[in-house]
Formats: sequence, C-alpha cells, structure tokens
Amino acid sequence: MVIIDFHVHPINIEEIHKGNPQMTTALRDVYNLRVSIQPLRVFVDQLKSFGVSKAVILGLDLSRTYGVKLPSNEELDRIISMHPDLFIGLIGLDPLRGDEALDEIEKYIDHRRFKGVKLNPSLQGFRPDDERIYPIYESLEDMGAILTIHTGFSWNIRSNLLYSYPLLIEPIASKFKELRIILTHMGWPWIWESICLALRYENVYLDIADTFTGTPKDHFKKVFIETLGIRFVEAFLKDKILFGSNHPRMESGKMIEAIQYLPMDSEVKESILRLNALYILS
Ligand SMILES: [Zn+2]
Repeated sequence: MVIIDFHVHPINIEEIHKGNPQMTTALRDVYNLRVSIQPLRVFVDQLKSFGVSKAVILGLDLSRTYGVKLPSNEELDRIISMHPDLFIGLIGLDPLRGDEALDEIEKYIDHRRFKGVKLNPSLQGFRPDDERIYPIYESLEDMGAILTIHTGFSWNIRSNLLYSYPLLIEPIASKFKELRIILTHMGWPWIWESICLALRYENVYLDIADTFTGTPKDHFKKVFIETLGIRFVEAFLKDKILFGSNHPRMESGKMIEAIQYLPMDSEVKESILRLNALYILS
C-alpha cells in the first residue's frame, strides 16, 4: 500500500548536522532524544522500504526559546530539493515575530514543495489563542495552507504544557474555518478534547504520531482499543485521522505495522494511512 507519513522531523540527517554542531546538542536538550545520525540516502531508502511514498517533513523555529532551528527552512528546502517526489515541507516560523513570520510564509509556501506551517506552542513559548498571532492564521487561511500544530505531551521540562492543551485551539478552528488544522499526537493524553474539536469542526484533523508510551503496538492498543474503541473510530473518525510516525522518536515502519495490526476495517486503515492525507494535501 502507498503510505503518507504526515509527521517526520528530519533532525537526525547527517547532511543537516554537518557544520551545525548546535543541532546535535539540541536533539538531546530540546527533544530528549538520543538517536543516531544517518545520511539522507539511508533514511530515504528506509522510508521507501516501509512503503512510504510521501513524507511531510517539519521545520521548527526555536531561535527565541532555545537559540536553534530544528531544522531551518533553508535546510528543509535543501532536503526537499534532493528528493522532491518524496518530501513535502511544512515550514517553521516564530509566530510572535509578526512581519518576519509573514515574510517566511510568503517566501516559502508554494503549494508544491511547501504546503504550510508547523508550530509547537509549548517549545516555542506562545499561547495558540494569543490574538497577536491571528494575522498568521489569517494569512495561512487566505493562502489555502495547512497548519500542523503540536498538541499534547512534551518531554521537555522547560516547555509549557498548558500551551499544548487542545482546547486552546478552539477559537482558531472556529474563527478560521477554511484553515485546515492538524492537531498532532491526537493531543495525547488529552485525546477526548482533540476529538471534540475534530468532531465539531470540519477543518480540524488529528495525527496519530506517538510521543510516549513504549512500543507503537502498545500505544495504539491503548488509544484505539482501550480508550476510544474501534467501532467509535470507524464510525466517527474515519475521515479525521492521519498517519504520522514522529520520526526519529518512532520508526515509521513500526508505526505502520502497528496500524496494520489493529482489528479495524481495512478501508478505515487506508483512509488513515493514505486517503485523508491525500485529501488534505490536494
Ligand atoms: Zn513531532
């Protein structure tokens, strides 16, 4: 099956780490990650071997809070240029930097290589419902761009958890009705709050990237079987859930396997792994 991974952090790619020692330290200090650095070629081969035909790679501008970009939009651009058929980018920007942030949107989002923005309120230190940010949301909506926004748990003890509480997104979902908003991690552990938004607002989607709990199989069992119930997912969330791995915290292949393993209608799996993403990217 052709699969789209909507949540990939290209932060352990050798080509980016070269000449950028800050980044190596930031992986540990910001993401609490100890992963090996690999050449882009190896990563691309891996994705292909898992059946991933498109990977959405995420930028993140932490220059105000941690003095680093993980990675910068220039670096995202460089990676996409090397594999334009495989990668789609969501740029990073600091939404509190007003015009500068709007300029980044203008500069990069072309609906081809770059389709939107990724924000992380906890790590970037802003409240998503801060009205100073509304011009950014408005601009994304006007452009028909995507907003992927971190909701849910963060390992980083310096980050503000409250800022990633899903219900803080409600005013944005209701005001910017044409803006397609993807809440990452289904807001875990505030799963029901994110689901409320996805059910109430046509423009809200959920990605299932994992942040936390042991193996992907255990995590999906806990979320889909024990918490939500498979029938509920099939009946109400079929068009709302996107597959995302959260590479390199989780391996795309293991996450895909864990979805395949669920006792869920195969059409719903196909929607999660591919069709919903295609719809949002179209
Ligand atoms: Zn992530």
